[in-house]
Amino acid sequence: MSFKEYDVVIVGGGAAGMMAAAQASASGIKVALVEKNSQLGRKILLTGKGRCNLTNSRPWDEFKEHVHPDSGFLRSAFMSFSNTDTVAFFNKIGLPTVCERGQRVFPLSGRSQDVRNVLECYIENRDNVDIYVESEVVSVLSSPKGHFVVEIMALAGKISMIQIVTQSVIVATGGLSYPATGSTGDGYRFASSFGHSIVPTRPSLTALVPYNYNFMLSGLTLRNVSLSLIVDGGVVQSEFGELTFTGGGIEGALGFRVSRRAVKALDEGKKVEVLIDLKPAVTEAELKSRVEREYSPNIKLQRFLERFLPVQAVKPFMDANPSLTFQSLPVRLKNWRMQIKSYVDFKRAVVTSGGVDLREVSRKTMESKLVPGLYFAGEVLDLDADTGGYNLQIAFSTGAAAAKAVAVRAISQ
Ligand SMILES: Cc1cc2nc3c(=O)[nH]c(=O)nc-3n(C[C@H](O)[C@H](O)[C@H](O)COP(=O)(O)OP(=O)(O)OC[C@H]3O[C@@H](n4cnc5c(N)ncnc54)[C@H](O)[C@@H]3O)c2cc1C
Repeated sequence: MSFKEYDVVIVGGGAAGMMAAAQASASGIKVALVEKNSQLGRKILLTGKGRCNLTNSRPWDEFKEHVHPDSGFLRSAFMSFSNTDTVAFFNKIGLPTVCERGQRVFPLSGRSQDVRNVLECYIENRDNVDIYVESEVVSVLSSPKGHFVVEIMALAGKISMIQIVTQSVIVATGGLSYPATGSTGDGYRFASSFGHSIVPTRPSLTALVPYNYNFMLSGLTLRNVSLSLIVDGGVVQSEFGELTFTGGGIEGALGFRVSRRAVKALDEGKKVEVLIDLKPAVTEAELKSRVEREYSPNIKLQRFLERFLPVQAVKPFMDANPSLTFQSLPVRLKNWRMQIKSYVDFKRAVVTSGGVDLREVSRKTMESKLVPGLYFAGEVLDLDADTGGYNLQIAFSTGAAAAKAVAVRAISQ
């Protein structure tokens, strides 16, 4: 067993932990960044379909609409390290960025590995940061002297134990989604051991699986459609945009946007349906006029439908509406209803909803209100967001806020 001492130990080298290390290092304090994988930021590599949508440049008033369950919690951290700061930071350390449709910011190179690499390189070049990879934090204990003892199992070669004594700990272990990237919920265990409550965790931004899902739809993207989520017979959310069907079920921007509520309702045993309006830009009466205008007695219904739907959608649409006629076509096109049976679990969910209860964490510093010196950053918190670069910004803002606070704590002690 070997012993070391640092001002702060950051547990988890994902987006939040790496940003916390980068920001804490700037204040000159002694930092240990501990990651159980053999490389930092493994999840960053997967983001944005390999392109990494690293933030969203919308102003706070619009940005906050995409953050759940309490955007107010993020406000202070966002104001002190905002989406503009994220872009400026990455530009400064050598990553040019580009802003695309929907205000989504990507690296100009279009490669997520460049985001990870510049961040890693920046941290590696700081003299006051030690990076431990293949090192799993197994426990975080408080010592009677007001310090923490962090126990690390070094996994490379012969397994050995390291103990680090530190004034502050930032738990940045992520949530439960894509566990193959290392986020296996360890932070919840550390938080609970200090008396923190964990808001029940659920997969979010995940595929919804309809009953009798028609796999012929797989690979189809419907643009400019609207989708309503119906729970126990009442519409609870309506969205407009792009809907994608995959081998997993209903996904794409629209599917993901309603998945948070849908998963919760399914877990609560409620009846969950989605209603797709394939022609939201026109009224039922307008559609009826078009059908009447274009109808001819010689045309088959299936052929006729190809004027209204992508070819791939025609057969599944007819299967779902076995009594479809020319007369019922307008109403059916505006009301394609699917009852949802289940959802794709954490293995392929983009984020985790739930986590360390925000009421027990300072929104300014990310410090635990129960244990001085213990901080949380990133997806381990009960904070998540829609797709569009919001989740990484949560990781960066909360990581930076925690880093700033531990530096103040270290200097004042
Ligand atoms: C496929 C996919 C695509 C995504 N695309 C985007 C996108 O384009 N834009 C966006 O904003 N968001 C995206 N997200 C979400 C975003 O990646 C996450 O919200 C964000 O990475 C969370 O960062 P984090 O640092 O909190 O957690 P993580 O990135 O999960 O990092 C946690 C780290 O802690 C380590 N760790 C855990 N336990 C221990 C332990 N006991 N000891 C040591 N280390 C430990 C893990 O190995 C891991 O490296 C995507 C997610 C996925 C899965």
